[in-house]
Amino acid sequence: MPTLEFLRFINSYARLPDDFYDRPPPAPFPQPYRVAFNEKAAELIGLDPEEANRAEFVNAFTGQVPLPGMEPVSMVYAGHQFGVYVPRLGDGRAVILGEVEAPDGGRWELQLKGSGPTRFSRSADGRAVLRSTIREYLASEAMHGLGIPTTRALTILGSDMPVYREEVESAAILVRMARSHVRFGNFEYFAHSGQEQRLKELADYVISHHYPELAERDNPYLALLEAVVERTAGLIARWQAVGFAHGVMNTDNMSILGLTIDYGPYGFLDAYDPGHICNHSDPQGRYAFDQQPGIAWWNLACLAQALLPLIDANEEAARERATAVLDDFEVLFDRAWQERMGEKLGFLEVRDGDRELVSRLLALMAESSIDYTRFFRAVGRFHEPGWYGGIRWGFREPEAFDAWMGDYCDRLDQEDRPDEDRLAHMLSVNPKYILRNHLAQMVITQAEKDRDFSAVDGLRRMLERPFDEQPELEAYADLPPEWASEIKVSCSS
Ligand code: AMP
Ligand code: MG
Repeated sequence: MPTLEFLRFINSYARLPDDFYDRPPPAPFPQPYRVAFNEKAAELIGLDPEEANRAEFVNAFTGQVPLPGMEPVSMVYAGHQFGVYVPRLGDGRAVILGEVEAPDGGRWELQLKGSGPTRFSRSADGRAVLRSTIREYLASEAMHGLGIPTTRALTILGSDMPVYREEVESAAILVRMARSHVRFGNFEYFAHSGQEQRLKELADYVISHHYPELAERDNPYLALLEAVVERTAGLIARWQAVGFAHGVMNTDNMSILGLTIDYGPYGFLDAYDPGHICNHSDPQGRYAFDQQPGIAWWNLACLAQALLPLIDANEEAARERATAVLDDFEVLFDRAWQERMGEKLGFLEVRDGDRELVSRLLALMAESSIDYTRFFRAVGRFHEPGWYGGIRWGFREPEAFDAWMGDYCDRLDQEDRPDEDRLAHMLSVNPKYILRNHLAQMVITQAEKDRDFSAVDGLRRMLERPFDEQPELEAYADLPPEWASEIKVSCSS
């Protein structure tokens, strides 16, 4: 496996004109140490995991001594935050180092998050705290394990340098990886500031690097919108099916590649509660769990608005065409959601009546606060001795659940699928292990209080294979403890 010196970095984003980014000077990051290292991500870029032990690794990935070809730049972008347009955000605490040519022939863009102030920091310090980097590191790898498109995480490097939030915390840098970190907000920035030429350059950059097949289409920009609508619909359907709430679906946190990006106050559902608000800084519930599909559409409409000048020189015509594409979202999301929920229940295909059957189940689960993950993991075994009673007992109205179960069995009978095959497939889509808040919190407490970081990668390894039985880790699949309800996650990171 290659050493650090063999990583070939090029920064294609830095080849765009100057007004796409800032080049912040390296900021000090005293006495860095390694908190976590993900050998699976290292493999993606063809880096020998042993290399993480070298001082050069720490120096490069804290931004102190760049490797050849690294060119740290902070992207400029704007965004709608909680519905309000903010004309300039940008990477206030992040730099893209460049892309590594990966063994698979593709490229991975590496980004430091928490690397220090940039032109876009506004009054903030440009730093990230250990707690929030651990949460992002674990969540992105958990999502990947669940088969959900996401940015990845290579390593966390820590420093005892104090960072001031509600309390004094310690600093950390997360090294993220994605094919691209471009957001809807990058487009909004150029569109709303009237820089049409730059807007076009950005769209051309994204198309040529990430959607090359669209370049041949009649209207590549409309095709780009179409592709992003489709990917986003598929992504949100996966979030809903697994019970993931992002928490801050601002347009600057929406990936142009349809990835889950910027993990802050996210949460995986414990008890099923459609109106669950995971972000303590969102009392109105703008980003509540069941609002996510509608918000995704709203965010796509912001992207569409930004792309209008590229879609057609005639604004009316552009609007008409963009609207038609946006209108597809509902259908695409609905189909993807039905497919995802259907596979969770062991159906081979989507049939009439499935939506109603799933909705009835979810309503019963909500009414009785049934644990979302444990229920779906168990329900496929209903015919095995002892299981049905275990599944049924948590329902406040067991008879209503029995009635649902009767209809569910009838639905299963409509398809000719051996029980064994169905169960095996259900266990491959309904995870046993998810990143519940209390699990992340336990690891964070151990890291903060005891300076023991070993559990970070321990938990990450478990989450890498969420569908496998891991008997020695059985307790991690338990219901959350009482104290879990006290955990508050907010935008503070
Ligand atoms: P987020 O909520 O993490 O997606 O961040 C929203 C915006 O605030 C982005 O432009 C971030 O770069 C910026 N930001 C968040 N935290 C900090 C910080 N500590 N220092 C500088 N900028 C920050
Ligand atoms: Mg963000």
